[in-house]
Amino acid sequence: MSEGARQRADGAASVDPERVEAAREAAADADRVVVKAGTNSLTDADSRLDPEKLDKLVDDIAALRERGTDVLLVSSGAIGAGEGLLGVDGETVEEDQALSTVGQSQLMRRYSESFDRHDTTTAQLLLTEHDLANPERFTNAQNTVETLLDWGVVPVINENDAVATEEVRIGDNDMLSSSVAIGLGVDLLVTLTDVGGVYTANPKEDPDAERIEAVGANYGAVEAAVEDSAAARFGGIRTKVRRARAAAEHGVPAVIAGSAEPDVLDRIADGDPVGTLFVPVGGDSDE
Ligand code: GLU
Repeated sequence: MSEGARQRADGAASVDPERVEAAREAAADADRVVVKAGTNSLTDADSRLDPEKLDKLVDDIAALRERGTDVLLVSSGAIGAGEGLLGVDGETVEEDQALSTVGQSQLMRRYSESFDRHDTTTAQLLLTEHDLANPERFTNAQNTVETLLDWGVVPVINENDAVATEEVRIGDNDMLSSSVAIGLGVDLLVTLTDVGGVYTANPKEDPDAERIEAVGANYGAVEAAVEDSAAARFGGIRTKVRRARAAAEHGVPAVIAGSAEPDVLDRIADGDPVGTLFVPVGGDSDE
């Protein structure tokens, strides 16, 4: 990435500070939040569910709920957990689908144990693209979620990998979480990753990589920066950026932040600058 492009992408400087502040306040005041956790934020190097990581995520969610915020969790990790449990590497779509069924029940068992520590009940929702695209099915899913939230239950959502073949796969959980956030009109989307946000280069490879604090008018430059990283197979950040932006284009602020950061959700709710904030863009946008 050229120095010029790096500067354009870098920091909140190129995004209207008032819009950044307003988005940060909106994120802090959110009454209903979709939190998405990726496989790497839940599993260890052997692809086994990592109890410490999972408990940390659950504690972060519990802290947010204690503030009165409704949380919907979109959790990956089913295929990964299945691989870790069976010691099998999924090599075909069919194997991944079967592994997801092994891992999903393991994942839910761990979530229900972990949320028990907070006297909180969880529910499993497995969705496919059909469910989001078909108005009747979507309304049914929406009604189920509303009822669960009324009861104080945390919906744990994943793609229904067992029946989602390549043509109908939502694609990935970044897409799923963004579609759920937009479709249900929540107030904030938080995507938790194993890096601290979006960077001007791949932070795992480039010591000069700088975290981009806010994304708004600089979106083109940011997308260019992550295109570069994606070419180096920088795990999925390009999709995260695009899906966070899609939420912002629907008026939903989005934050991409590190799952390992202490009190990450609490700090977002405190209005602290955490990770990378996607400023909502809409009719009155300056872009
Ligand atoms: N649904 C997949 C799983 O639970 C993950 C898809 C993704 O991470 O994007 O393993």
